[in-house]
Amino acid sequence: MSEEKFDAIVVGGGLAGLTAAYCLAQAEMEVLLIERGDFCGSKNVTGGRIYTHSMEKLMPGFAKEAPLERKITKERIALMTETGALNIEYASGKDDDDSTASYSVLRSKFDKWFAEKAEEAGVMMVPGIRVDECLIEDGKVVGINAGGEEMYADVVILADGVNSLLSQQLGLKKELEPHQVAVGCKEVIQLDEEVINQRFNVKNGEGTAVLVAGDPTLGNIGGGFLYTNKDSISIGIVATCSDIGRVDVSIPDMLERFKNHPSVEPLITGGVPLEYSAHLVPEGGFNMIPEKLYADGVLICGDAAAFVVNLGYAVRGMDFAVESGRLAAEAVIKAKEAGDFSARTLSLYQQLVEDSFIYTDMKQYRNFPKLLERHEIFNDVPEIADMIMDKLFRVDGRKPVSLPMFAVDEIAKRTTAQKLLDLVMVALDAL
Ligand SMILES: Cc1cc2nc3c(=O)[nH]c(=O)nc-3n(C[C@H](O)[C@H](O)[C@H](O)COP(=O)(O)OP(=O)(O)OC[C@H]3O[C@@H](n4cnc5c(N)ncnc54)[C@H](O)[C@@H]3O)c2cc1C
Repeated sequence: MSEEKFDAIVVGGGLAGLTAAYCLAQAEMEVLLIERGDFCGSKNVTGGRIYTHSMEKLMPGFAKEAPLERKITKERIALMTETGALNIEYASGKDDDDSTASYSVLRSKFDKWFAEKAEEAGVMMVPGIRVDECLIEDGKVVGINAGGEEMYADVVILADGVNSLLSQQLGLKKELEPHQVAVGCKEVIQLDEEVINQRFNVKNGEGTAVLVAGDPTLGNIGGGFLYTNKDSISIGIVATCSDIGRVDVSIPDMLERFKNHPSVEPLITGGVPLEYSAHLVPEGGFNMIPEKLYADGVLICGDAAAFVVNLGYAVRGMDFAVESGRLAAEAVIKAKEAGDFSARTLSLYQQLVEDSFIYTDMKQYRNFPKLLERHEIFNDVPEIADMIMDKLFRVDGRKPVSLPMFAVDEIAKRTTAQKLLDLVMVALDAL
């Protein structure tokens, strides 16, 4: 193998890498995909809910065949205190097609299926090997070194995820800063399909996405999530690394606390733990995207390029990963036609990304990370909501209090008019 030269080597068998490799193989290029996990998906973590528009563009009708869990038909956002929870649930009632739908997904199944598709298309898969470095000759990336074995290609696509050490080695990316990443900690709990239907008031094949702020992270920046799968529930915490140590509870313990919350425990009771995982999530948004997504003989896509937005009520990375993998392949196909894999030719990728929904959407929400840095959202807001709801619904024979006055009083106890105005301005700027 060391003598062989490929058209392209893709590092990482997540959604970005699989998409890039799949598209290149479809264009009859010789592609090698190297994945450090035992199989594609074995190391990949998501919440997770996949917005299907970019997969649908890639493989029309894929949802009929792919191992997706449930079509998300209900959205629930919650503000939680130690004992209380204000839940807002929304169901559009519209029957979305797969260009607008989203599904709960388990990456260990989905990526495995996708890898089989890529292999059928002609990708040579090498799982179980970690790429240690890119090989450079005359300033150009010419291949990779994996465990001492050197492999060569016209172009290397780095789809090695959020902590892309390879793009750091090439100087395309800086080391991650604690405020730019969160730790996600997740458990998959098996439950009967019918039990899930009853607990979430959904039909077979339909599901609920729940995103929670407040008590799950004890007021730290982050939140809790819960997604209904076919016969399991994905439940987890995402907590920003810069906040670690702010409270004396570890992230795994936050997950236990979330699972035991009075409004959550009845949803998962009787379930059997199937899977436990932890992973980093890019949280910096648009401002975290590397200045250059290419260099001579190399491109970066997916989480490696920080293509993720976390809006609190929705997390998106998978649709960006798929689209960026597709665009990387498009640029490589053009480079192959031109017989030139220099940075100048590969810069087409940057242009394609900048013209795509990846940039438009991430740019739109570029100030969201600033909003989510405000601790008030994760402690004061849930507490005030809890106090108001409790006052609204409690009947105890005492003299009633004016609710607006009570609300103003509760807000004034926690913040000043200036701070409140400031928060509103940051929120308006983020939206
Ligand atoms: C807790 C959590 C919740 C999330 N929730 C959602 C959600 O609900 N919806 C959503 O759209 N997104 C969500 N995301 C984000 C989403 O999961 C990612 O954006 C997406 O998985 C990125 O895909 P990727 O292919 O770029 O990277 P990954 O899926 O991380 O794939 C990278 C691959 O590269 C491999 N690799 C790394 N280094 C090497 C190496 N040196 N050699 C060989 N292989 C290597 C890894 O093993 C891995 O398979 C969530 C993320 C987390 C962690």
